[in-house]
Amino acid sequence: MEQVYNFNAGPAALPKDVLTEAHENWFDFRGTKANIMELSHRSKAYDELHKAALERIRSLMNLDDSYDVLFLQGGASLQFAMVPMNFLSKDKVGGYILTGSWSKKALREAKQVGHGEQFGPSDSEFRKIPSATEFHQPDPKVYDYIHLTTNNTIYGTQWQELPAFSDVPVLIDSSSDFLSYDMPKDSFDLLYAGAQKNAGPSGVTIVVIKKELIEKGAKEIPHFLQYRTHAEKNSLYHTPPTFSVYMLSLTLKWIEQQGGLQAMQERNTYKSNLIYNVIDQSNNFYKGWASIESRSKMNVTFTLPSEELTRAFIKESEKEGMMGLKGHRSVGGLRASLYNAVPLEAVQYLEDFMKRFYMANRNK
Ligand code: PMP
Repeated sequence: MEQVYNFNAGPAALPKDVLTEAHENWFDFRGTKANIMELSHRSKAYDELHKAALERIRSLMNLDDSYDVLFLQGGASLQFAMVPMNFLSKDKVGGYILTGSWSKKALREAKQVGHGEQFGPSDSEFRKIPSATEFHQPDPKVYDYIHLTTNNTIYGTQWQELPAFSDVPVLIDSSSDFLSYDMPKDSFDLLYAGAQKNAGPSGVTIVVIKKELIEKGAKEIPHFLQYRTHAEKNSLYHTPPTFSVYMLSLTLKWIEQQGGLQAMQERNTYKSNLIYNVIDQSNNFYKGWASIESRSKMNVTFTLPSEELTRAFIKESEKEGMMGLKGHRSVGGLRASLYNAVPLEAVQYLEDFMKRFYMANRNK
């Protein structure tokens, strides 16, 4: 089969080993003579897989007993709503740090539920993450929580270090950098992420939550929307997305085999530097969207001198076996997503293509 290098923003590339293993087990999952999709979520085979996947996240993130890990559905988008439904009380404020379109969407949902408000400064073009010193400590008598997006998939910016707000819970949307680096676990009280960028396919949403926060959640909302309902049943309150959990579990095993989160972090830093170096050495032919100090290791966003060159870049890159490089419509230009499963070889291939494209077009 001809090789295609996948730079999609999500759903995105999966490790080849993961696809191979799923393929090998297609008609016989662990001796059942059935595909995993055909088995009951109450079966022994699925139950073992489900528990092992939860355990793998615990072990990769080095989580102690004060955290619960949940497998939910509805993507990060449902979390935008569940977070305020559970934790935003009538007389307090949910503070939202705005660093891009996804944090704005999260705030929009909070406003449906209660008093959601922007917290701290925000860059009008979303090129820059505010620095930790630009925020005051939120007063717990005023704020129920602070919410932020760790990596801005569309703009290609990422917090290099998460701010510490010691007196109120910090709730984070980590959809596009989950398990891509060794995140200090005391930097959040609740984390949510769809699996479809760094951890597997779409369909399963991972929530890591402090147990003491679960207990504080609202009790008058529908049971299904309470975190405690899923925590009490080990994420088997209802039928989980069994196939997505299976693919997630294979991806988690692969991350372990690669050396865990520290190895992912080193590799992702190295990969993104290859592309940022080409941008920086192109005499402004390639222009990075993000300010240098806010650059994402996951989504490298950049523009070219003209629309015509942008179209030519996309067309030629596709002809040379690369997919998914077109930028999001709100930024334009190009975006290379370099998640965990994007191999170094793919990034080197793109690096070489960018250098050649620059040499051929720099005088146009
Ligand atoms: N937050 C971020 C940072 C994202 O990148 C995305 C998806 N691109 C979402 C939220 C929305 O996720 P979902 O489509 O899984 O609801």
